[in-house]
Amino acid sequence: MKIACLAFAVAALALAQPKTVFIITDAEGVAGVCRQEQTNPKDPEMRQLLTGEINSAVAGFFDGGATDVFVWDGHDGSATLSALTIDSRAHLVMGVLPATLLMERHYSAVAFVGQHARANTPGGVMAHSYSSLGIQNLLMNGSPAGEIETRTALAGWYNTPVIFLSGDRAAAGQLKKIDPDAETAVVKEGIDNYACISLSAEASRRLIHQRAQAAMSKIGAIQPYRIKGPVTIQIEYTSRHALTPDAALKPGAEVIDARTIRFHGKDFLEAWQRARP
Ligand SMILES: [Zn+2]
Repeated sequence: MKIACLAFAVAALALAQPKTVFIITDAEGVAGVCRQEQTNPKDPEMRQLLTGEINSAVAGFFDGGATDVFVWDGHDGSATLSALTIDSRAHLVMGVLPATLLMERHYSAVAFVGQHARANTPGGVMAHSYSSLGIQNLLMNGSPAGEIETRTALAGWYNTPVIFLSGDRAAAGQLKKIDPDAETAVVKEGIDNYACISLSAEASRRLIHQRAQAAMSKIGAIQPYRIKGPVTIQIEYTSRHALTPDAALKPGAEVIDARTIRFHGKDFLEAWQRARP
């Protein structure tokens, strides 16, 4: 009897545990978005396509047991999403966030919606790392990295797993490489930077809902992506964004050439806060 009571108490506790999901949103990885001008935050069709995918992910997470979902408007200046059209159960996070992306709030899981691949990825639709005009390449501990790798490492620093990504095939592959058990929803396949084969909005929403729901069962099973030891973040800017003469004075900075700088940190977070691409 006592054991049964204990088992019941443990089960009840597990049910009562809050399961919060933080969604990082972007535009270049959304189904039906394949041209640069569509990524303008005020483009009405893109906003509708992106919001539809976000709301499908939100619904999937709630159906999978989430207790709270936060949606960060992460595309270009955080000016794309509207509280008028976001699923009423979700919280909309607006504005440019600190380097930690508020992960000190210890979400149960992080997810990507509308994500693109890193700069210099063959077959990546509008592939770039943080800024297509400003950054040529980004390296983390010497290896090419983009938003997927650095933000998954950021979540990992806080012991938070990334459980889901929707985007193009190249982006999904890049998450799988560092986080093989994450759920992915591939909504289009890139032919080149501005050519793709896309699902319809309806089909992508259905797929995202299903995979997001499945992802919730992986909380606790997916290991956070933690980078051990000292970390370097190297940024090669584009020609028009060459370094200023005082760049070498920044904490932890090592100037490599006229437009390349490497930041050293004792761990990921220190290097990341110093680099802040
Ligand atoms: Zn992006």
